[in-house]
Amino acid sequence: MAKQDYYEILGIKKDATTDEIKKAYRQIALKYHPDKNPNNPEAEEKFKAAAEAYEVLSNPEKRQRYDYLGHDGMREQAYRGSYTQAEDIFGRYSNIFEGTPFESFFQGGRSQQQTRQGSDLRIKLKLTLQEIASGVEKKIKIKRYITCQTCGGNGAQNGTELSTCNTCKGTGEVHRVANTLLGQVVTHSTCSVCHGAGKIITTPCNTCKGEGRIYAEEVVNIKIPAGVTQGMQLSMRGKGNMPPHGGVPGDLLIAIEEKEDDVLKREGKDIHYQLYISFIEAVFGAEKEVPTLSGNVKIKLEPGTQSGKILRLRGKGIKEVDGYGQGDQLVHIQVWTPDKLNKEEREILEKLKDSSNFIPQPGKQEKNFFEKFKSLFRN
Ligand SMILES: [Zn+2]
Ligand SMILES: [Zn+2]
Repeated sequence: MAKQDYYEILGIKKDATTDEIKKAYRQIALKYHPDKNPNNPEAEEKFKAAAEAYEVLSNPEKRQRYDYLGHDGMREQAYRGSYTQAEDIFGRYSNIFEGTPFESFFQGGRSQQQTRQGSDLRIKLKLTLQEIASGVEKKIKIKRYITCQTCGGNGAQNGTELSTCNTCKGTGEVHRVANTLLGQVVTHSTCSVCHGAGKIITTPCNTCKGEGRIYAEEVVNIKIPAGVTQGMQLSMRGKGNMPPHGGVPGDLLIAIEEKEDDVLKREGKDIHYQLYISFIEAVFGAEKEVPTLSGNVKIKLEPGTQSGKILRLRGKGIKEVDGYGQGDQLVHIQVWTPDKLNKEEREILEKLKDSSNFIPQPGKQEKNFFEKFKSLFRN
């Protein structure tokens, strides 16, 4: 059987305005509404056809497509649950159509009863650079709602029966009928007496007072992988709050905060450290101890070490959180210039003032200092 033209269904002209479409549709919807025409398949058919026609013609884009391509053009779109427009108006009716051919038609718009989820719990976790570098397992005390162990979460005193909720007759939903322009509109909402469970507690559990959950302290083990960064959020599924009257718990969300280290500065996966040496050490060379995230290491400075030199300690940085790549520690050499001298020191240095070896000669090996600096960051 050929499908009836949408304009014919609504009894309007091809150039009908949006208002005219709406008006025509409302009239038909009122006339053939299943509420007013119980057990009348013909009326249902007309009502359904009008809803479909309205859904297409009230949407300028779909209307244009229909005008150009006819029903063939709509097939692809119209039957893939795209009845948004119809749902907006008719989602409220969905309970009327249960068990009728309308069920499948309106399926997309029916509000499914959802499993209730409890709220998420948020905590902040401060970590040292050392903990971040190696990864760490933390035992954290949290307070959250958990399932009441006494009643197993159903809220009833041990051994007592649950009875069917009188308000919703065990369906968990209540319906309210209101008269509107479109006829009787039935809204349904979760039953406030049984909270959607359909059953009520005759004798509430002593421990949780019938709520099915208790507020309790719990120690959770949080495994922090190496390489996390400030502001990163980790989540532990199901470690948040249990909702009242049953459901599934929310998540525990852990925001990472980085404790600043006094001497080791993090930059991405690299660690920077400023090593101050004396002028004498720079001249004669020295062995120095340098702190790293994995303990002190000894480094050797060559005689004639210049201020500004950067030494790279490979692998002494931080691992990438995804496991790929490991940073280095960069040791920045700073030659300390004394700002006060005693008489003897002054005399010695005065003697060296015009000594030729003390005159800066950045010609030879240090000429390419900036080249070296660049190459340091290149690999
Ligand atoms: Zn109820
Ligand atoms: Zn309980």
